[in-house]
Amino acid sequence: MNNLDESRWRAVQSRDDSAAGVFVYGVSSTRIYCRPGCKSRQPLRQNVEYFATTSEADAAGYRSCRRCRPTEQVFHDAALRSVVALCRSLEINQASVDIGEFAAACGYSERHLRRRFSEVVGVPVATYVRFLRAERVRTALQSKVPVTEAIIEAGYGSSRAFYEHGAPQLAMTPGTYRAGGRGERITFTSLVTPIGTVIAAATERGVCAVRIGHDESTLEEELKVEFPNSSLQRDDEGLVDVAQVLARAVRGEGDATLLPIDLAGTAFQMRVWDTLRRIPPGKTLTYSQVAVEIGSPRAVRAVGSACAANPVALVVPCHRVIRQDGSLGGYRWGLEAKEALLKFEGTR
Ligand SMILES: [Zn+2]
Repeated sequence: MNNLDESRWRAVQSRDDSAAGVFVYGVSSTRIYCRPGCKSRQPLRQNVEYFATTSEADAAGYRSCRRCRPTEQVFHDAALRSVVALCRSLEINQASVDIGEFAAACGYSERHLRRRFSEVVGVPVATYVRFLRAERVRTALQSKVPVTEAIIEAGYGSSRAFYEHGAPQLAMTPGTYRAGGRGERITFTSLVTPIGTVIAAATERGVCAVRIGHDESTLEEELKVEFPNSSLQRDDEGLVDVAQVLARAVRGEGDATLLPIDLAGTAFQMRVWDTLRRIPPGKTLTYSQVAVEIGSPRAVRAVGSACAANPVALVVPCHRVIRQDGSLGGYRWGLEAKEALLKFEGTR
């Protein structure tokens, strides 16, 4: 998860109302949104979705909380009001906002405003801008704009810059927590790699399947079984970015976990997969370490099952989980592939 998400969650968890006005959070189980600091029952983190403004939360189908009344803005002090105004301005104009000028207009030095911004929002201005760009890509992806176009429109300049800076913020959210492309168009591509043929499929929101095998037509058949209600179409051109990232990942280069994903799974599986995505290339965790990481230290076997059920090889790097004694454990796509991947990443 990115820092902004982290600091927002901290504010929600500690009922810290100093960021009230900067964002609101929606709880998917109740469809109600609150300001940070609300005294209502603590939500589960996986049910929480953040919005910069109350109108965004309204648009996403949430109702405002009667207890904390997030639509009635209360600002604690003038500096906070300026920080909130800067947030709104960045949301509209992003990188083109002159922070020095903005600060002067509010009667502060640039340094002071930047410092207050970091304190209140939890991340520096530049990080916030990066986050906003990633959000714009997500919105564009949902409106079915071609991936590359969405990336460039959001101001990344190239898909490379996007995968380097923007993609982590597109990790799983409740909004994309839907069944992998039921009844919608899924495109796919395939590539031949040193560990076998890799087939990758994506919805408009992100990668929904990456399978490794020996025979392309078998892999295609498996996709049809996995997404029986979707229209599957080969689109090598549309997925060229994804194919490139995967081709490099197989050789232990780059980081496929930065690709946007669209997965369906149980809450437990999602927690495991999310943890796996945070294991950097060149590192491994044991099954029990993952279990500790997700807060269920005794669920080691269930962690193993969640790894085995991973629908997106490489993108959720389940090959980076090994046994405590150093042996490989299992791998849905064959132990040979797992061993080769770890070798390429220099951990074997
Ligand atoms: Zn509330």
